[in-house]
Amino acid sequence: MKNCFSVFCILLLLSCNAKKDSAKQTITGNLTANKDTAQKAAVPVADATTILSKKQVPVLCYHHINNSKPGDYVVPPSLFATQLQALADSGYQTILPDQLYNYLTTGTPLPVKAFMLTFDDTDEEQYTIGATEMAKHNFKGVFFIMNISIGRPRYMSKEQIKQLADEGHIIAAHTWDHHRVTEYTTADWDKQLTEAKQKLETITGKPVTYFAYPFGLWKPPAIPELQQRNIKMAFQLSTKPDTTQPLYTVRRMLVPGTWTNDGLFKAMKRTFHL
Ligand SMILES: [Zn+2]
Repeated sequence: MKNCFSVFCILLLLSCNAKKDSAKQTITGNLTANKDTAQKAAVPVADATTILSKKQVPVLCYHHINNSKPGDYVVPPSLFATQLQALADSGYQTILPDQLYNYLTTGTPLPVKAFMLTFDDTDEEQYTIGATEMAKHNFKGVFFIMNISIGRPRYMSKEQIKQLADEGHIIAAHTWDHHRVTEYTTADWDKQLTEAKQKLETITGKPVTYFAYPFGLWKPPAIPELQQRNIKMAFQLSTKPDTTQPLYTVRRMLVPGTWTNDGLFKAMKRTFHL
């Protein structure tokens, strides 16, 4: 499974009592909805053009955090720690998918230096090292879980996944066994998402409403399948968001274990047009 995955992958506030302070410290994109009105009335959801016109939020993607040969999918623990330190020192604050969704669809403000940390494929080191390093900076992340790996050696257990959810991290779906969605029939979707999502919800006691495409690969027929299964937003990898379905093609950036911190910041600027 892992080898197969690697081969494929190579191919490839302060609650704002003071509204003035809030206005200075947040970005709102193009929508300027009045907060009080927005809470009472049905909130208008932005169209694709509006969503695509907003300032982007960097979404970083990690796989293995260990001392094997550094590469696109392997980041040494010491480098991971210095990256988080550098991000924190620069004023970056993690946000979670609900915040990104609300920012994109209704203009809910975000911290100026918002970013998202995401982890794919259920590796245990994401719990032992990833979550430990995040805790030093009060960062929270998103863990896209491949169900088939749960409880296997070197992967997270149910208990570890539950603990991450209890600590405020987000547990999200990454299919049952990492087959690419470009090949699915409806029956495949039932196994790879409906069943996978239900099992994760049983483990965490929380709804699973976000999804990452294995290998970052997607196709348009996948989107109604995701919507039918109450997925609000889906993440791919390195291509631009789709012009008609930006919420289901959110861009992420792999962080290779060969980058310096300076290289990371430059890549964030370049990739997300900061
Ligand atoms: Zn994956």
